[in-house]
Amino acid sequence: MAQPLKVVLATHNQGKVRELAEPLAELGVEVVGLDAFPEVGDIVENGETFAENALIKACTVAEATGLPAIADDSGLEVDALDGRPGIYSARYADGELPLEGETRDMRNNRKLLFDLRDVPYEHRQARFVCCIACVMPGRYEPEETLVVQGTWEGRILPAPIGENGFGYDPVFADIVLGRSAAQLSREEKMARSHRGAAVRSLVSWWPEWIASLKQQPEK
Ligand code: IMP
Repeated sequence: MAQPLKVVLATHNQGKVRELAEPLAELGVEVVGLDAFPEVGDIVENGETFAENALIKACTVAEATGLPAIADDSGLEVDALDGRPGIYSARYADGELPLEGETRDMRNNRKLLFDLRDVPYEHRQARFVCCIACVMPGRYEPEETLVVQGTWEGRILPAPIGENGFGYDPVFADIVLGRSAAQLSREEKMARSHRGAAVRSLVSWWPEWIASLKQQPEK
């Protein structure tokens, strides 16, 4: 069998590495995380969209390691807040004073519920978005990159419920299943979620992307 293609995923999160390593292994791709490349420092995510941020991260890692790179960026868009917190999802409540024993995720959820306090349930539509960008070192023209997106439609609950997952999971309800994201198992979440959809899209586009790069002359 041919040598697997080694690809760096721009994350130190081993859970994310495993999530992608399994489906891509079937396409002859070996996924490694950033722990193996301590020389790649913090990456400034100064894009204006999920796709821009994912591309910034992927290009930075490809340039620093000389290897193909994959990066993702995700967050929560709430219609009643004109799409906020969006790309600022992780740091939404960073300006707020934390309550005793409160984690960053808990503070974000508290702020979100406060900001939506006057919005009735039928107007609390929201979606998780996940963009994944793939680049080859030195090939950064838009037509040479692969960017996929997955979304997960739901509503923001009046109060947190459930123990699983992370981030906004306890306040995000999957309408179809009638449960919060934090009440789903890992498998159930992957089948429904923005990240699951983006990973499946990436796997389906990957062979065509690799073939197109081989056909296009390098710029
Ligand atoms: P990241 O791009 O995976 O680092 O996610 C950015 C932020 O978006 C996280 O810190 C969470 O606040 C939020 N987020 C993204 N995906 C999810 C999810 O699946 N559940 C809950 N929160 C999420």
